[in-house]
Amino acid sequence: MQLQSMYQDIILDHYRNPHGRGLRDPFQAEVHHVNPTCGDEVTLRVNLDGETIADVSYEGMGCSISQASVSAMYDLVIGKSVTEAMHTGEQFMTLMQSKGNATVAEELEDDLEDAVAFAGVSKYPARVKCALMSWMALKDASARALSSPTGGADA
Ligand code: ZN
Repeated sequence: MQLQSMYQDIILDHYRNPHGRGLRDPFQAEVHHVNPTCGDEVTLRVNLDGETIADVSYEGMGCSISQASVSAMYDLVIGKSVTEAMHTGEQFMTLMQSKGNATVAEELEDDLEDAVAFAGVSKYPARVKCALMSWMALKDASARALSSPTGGADA
């Protein structure tokens, strides 16, 4: 199977069967992010147990890339510390800036799992924002959750 079509299958699978979708309680922070250039939206909640991401729940609408990205991100960050999740987010950012460089995708494959399927998106600057929206929302929500009096580390 062609790599490109395998990547597309992974994205479509996450889009059609999103992992962890739906808004759940409890949560310490909820954010709403939009990508106006494409019309994508996501509402995302973070539930921390100490510094560990116990749950990320979300609702969203928009293109398949934006919605599949949230689902792939969900798989990557549950059970990780906020610090680890932010590191993974930086790796995903690197992938999105790789302009389709296959070597970069190969190096990040083990860490990014299904999210490496978005490598092809990096060739299309207009779509990069679609893929990054979920990670921006997670970063925002995690920062708020950590500073929330009801959750996060002993702040
Ligand atoms: Zn989009």
